[in-house]
Amino acid sequence: MRFHVITIFPEMFDSYLKESIIGRAVKNKKISIKFYNPWDFCPKKERVDARPYGGGPGMVLRPEFFLKAVAKIKTKNKKKTKFILFSPSGKKFDTQYVKKSAKKYTDIILISGRYEGIDARVQKILKAEEISIGDYVLTGGELPAMILMDSISRQIPEVLGKYESLEENRVSSSEVYTRPEVLKYKNKNYRVPKVLLSGHQAKIDEWKKRK
Ligand code: SAH
Repeated sequence: MRFHVITIFPEMFDSYLKESIIGRAVKNKKISIKFYNPWDFCPKKERVDARPYGGGPGMVLRPEFFLKAVAKIKTKNKKKTKFILFSPSGKKFDTQYVKKSAKKYTDIILISGRYEGIDARVQKILKAEEISIGDYVLTGGELPAMILMDSISRQIPEVLGKYESLEENRVSSSEVYTRPEVLKYKNKNYRVPKVLLSGHQAKIDEWKKRK
């Protein structure tokens, strides 16, 4: 999977994508992530944002430099390339969407807005799908882009340590325990549920399902 991120703040991604499972997936070439900054296509005396037509607060990102950034993206197969534009009023994505995208595409282009958003003509020209990560408004589309890349990447074979690590393919529980068996805290003992120590897999799975 190749991710192409269009953002005016590429540095925001550095620390998150460098570490842990995603960092390892990049190193092992299971995924690649490239950045394209509209500022790089903006003439020296101009700005990437401008006041909105029709008035109102805030600034709107101008379309030309986003389109120029998109023109720089090289993808192998147009049919397997997807344009996603982040917007709080877009379609909410879920596991189903994530799984489908991981299978269907080889290149995903993620367009992150800021301020009042991106001039609407960008979405119309690219026929980008508008995606929301939830019913709240963030200051920008950078976190949504990271969330989408994270959730899609873990569906790609060999990105997680073991295939079984995918919650969707096993019985998982949000209540998990590790050592020590008895935790002493302020004169009280907190024990790991007995069933987890029983070695009885069917009973353990049943307990996990209940949790
Ligand atoms: N005025 C705009 C909101 C702009 S928020 C409106 O009413 O729709 C600035 C940018 O943050 C957006 O362009 C989008 O890229 C991103 N963003 C904010 N909240 C988001 C959410 N819940 N899901 C996805 N992207 C979001």
